[in-house]
Amino acid sequence: MTVAYSQQGAIAVLTVDNPPVNALSVAVRQGIIEAIERAVADKAVAAIVLIGKGKTFIAGADIREFGKPAQPPRLTAAIAAIEASPKPVVAAIDGVALGGGLEVALGCHFRIATPRAQVGLPEVKIGLVPGAGGVERLPRLIGLDPALKMIVSGDPVRADRAASLGIVDAVADGDLLAAAIAFAERVLKDKTPLRRLSEMPLNASADWRTLLANARSTAARQNRGQISPLRAIDCVENAITLPFDKALGETQRIIGELIPSEQSKALRYAFFAEREAAKLPDIDRSVEVKPLRLAAVIGAGTMGAGIAMCFADAGIPVQILENSAAALDQGLARIDSLYQEMVQKGRIKAEEKTKRVGLITRASGYDGIGDADIVIEAAFEDMAVKKEVFQRLDRVCKADAMLASNTSTLDVDEIARATKRPESVIGLHFFSPANVMRLLEIVRGAKTSKAVVATSQALAKRIGKVGVVCGVCHGFVANRSRGAFTREANFLVDEGALPQQVDKVFYDFGMAMGPFAVADVAGIDVGWRVRRSLDATRPNDMRYSPTADRLYELGRYGQKTQKGWYRYEPGSRTPLPDPDVETIILKSSREQGITRRAISNEEILARCLYAAINEGAKILDEGIALRASDIDVMWLYGFGFPRWRGGPMYYADSVGVARVFESVRDFQRQHGALWTPSPLLQRLAESGKSFAAP
Ligand code: NAD
Repeated sequence: MTVAYSQQGAIAVLTVDNPPVNALSVAVRQGIIEAIERAVADKAVAAIVLIGKGKTFIAGADIREFGKPAQPPRLTAAIAAIEASPKPVVAAIDGVALGGGLEVALGCHFRIATPRAQVGLPEVKIGLVPGAGGVERLPRLIGLDPALKMIVSGDPVRADRAASLGIVDAVADGDLLAAAIAFAERVLKDKTPLRRLSEMPLNASADWRTLLANARSTAARQNRGQISPLRAIDCVENAITLPFDKALGETQRIIGELIPSEQSKALRYAFFAEREAAKLPDIDRSVEVKPLRLAAVIGAGTMGAGIAMCFADAGIPVQILENSAAALDQGLARIDSLYQEMVQKGRIKAEEKTKRVGLITRASGYDGIGDADIVIEAAFEDMAVKKEVFQRLDRVCKADAMLASNTSTLDVDEIARATKRPESVIGLHFFSPANVMRLLEIVRGAKTSKAVVATSQALAKRIGKVGVVCGVCHGFVANRSRGAFTREANFLVDEGALPQQVDKVFYDFGMAMGPFAVADVAGIDVGWRVRRSLDATRPNDMRYSPTADRLYELGRYGQKTQKGWYRYEPGSRTPLPDPDVETIILKSSREQGITRRAISNEEILARCLYAAINEGAKILDEGIALRASDIDVMWLYGFGFPRWRGGPMYYADSVGVARVFESVRDFQRQHGALWTPSPLLQRLAESGKSFAAP
């Protein structure tokens, strides 16, 4: 039985039992209707409790049913049956009540939750809107403004917040079922009137039009290019202006449009891609995850400071070791000011800052970090430096410590060989700013133990990152595929485009920033150093754009010098096109013997994205990335690729792999060896397959 029926005294207990998360499959919807009918018909039943079996109420709709013909009964019918019950129905919520799960709870007359419960309507995150009355009922329950925020953001709220908003009537410590039954008995005893939300008025304040207009402009800014938040606001507007049933009908019509939309498909893909990325074929739950109670970071520069904050933010004490007291002072001061900024912006309270700063301490030399469970090295990007650090770590760290490097490019296996315990060594590649960017590229060396990989995945989760595991190669997966993208962006500028044209193409595509604005943030000097590290291995006949080097030679390091690919007004981060840069670019083209030409936006998009896709395919073929979707997850969280486009590899599938392959071959004819098609791309194109179904 997917909805078990039992009775305790005069209370019928309906238990949704659809492991693992009690998703609202057709059997659950049918089961709810039947159980409600039975309880309503049974004279010995006075009230009903609806609860989920296991650790959760109802996680939401069954996503696997999306895009397939809906099987009756619909969720709205099940919820209508609950709400229509003449006997009080109490939802007992543990774990999560998301999407359809919360909509079911809103159909109940009362709600009670455990302290760890979370409720929310996350549909916009997969390109949809809440379709079973959530949009219409929530504002009737808690008021327009807070409901609008939850519906448009899709973010869940925890039980205490849900209680203060009025979503749940009580938060119950101890046994949830017992508390829900006691609650139902009190409702009976007090003859509390049943709250049928669909019958209640939606009391929007007089300024609701302004509220919605503001919500629309915020959504357009925060989720640029994404349709679903705006459609959700349309649904809320209908909920205000139309009677309940009419509004719900409109919502259903809008969902009918959204489900088959490219955006929703891409967002659903991204949702599954992220879950998939956490799975590794050779690592299951039996692999032991080591406890991480104490961390150490080597280097308090840009990355080291940010990484230390990641630990402190998660409540894990962290020691920092530096070359000199002065460098450490500087790093600690930067951490302090970053936390201060968060306090000023109201993101954390002053006490929280004190607590977090207190978790970050100075290490007294290598002997002081011997007890750390994990050490992350973020010293200079130089193999000799890394080796020396790891040799010293090998000497002082306890036997089961994890030794990680934040290197962006260097061979993790070579670093591991500097120790007598290569199985303990791994790459943990954070992205800048480390305390903000969500991607953690977990670079598994040839000898890295499973326990160290599994512990790294667990660490990612604990510090709020999305961990994606990959193998060792220069630049690993994220930066290597991104390198092909920026390479073409630079060539395009040499051939006739300007940075602002290229950046606008990608901004309009939905990226947070174009490649040249990004380069100005990351530092032209940083890019210069990376290129110098590659000089020795770059074949002489390989095409190379020297234009960024010209900027470097002029001291144009990017935002930090207020001049890079753009110029910046003092105190501003807005990139402004700079005629001086245009002069530098034109001169560079001339020196390279290139006759500049007009370059179309289409060419810019194809050159950059297809280069990344072709490189991604090579990475896959080499086995460095496990799945195409892993590469996509990296771009979503590492490079601000618009989630509603799925990621570069998904984009290739949506354009058609055969078409991408054809263009790659054209570019190879025009531009040479850097465009050699990946054998995988060719195989997929010729067999009519895709990256998602190779
Ligand atoms: P940084 O120059 O800002 O900081 C490096 C710090 O390490 C300096 O403070 C230096 O004093 C210290 N240091 C150097 N050698 C040391 C040693 N032997 N012992 C202790 N401390 C030492 O550099 P960063 O940008 O923070 O980069 C650090 C590492 O992170 C590099 O390997 C880099 O490739 C990698 N990385 C950087 C970025 C980025 O965007 N900056 C992103 C990902 C990874």
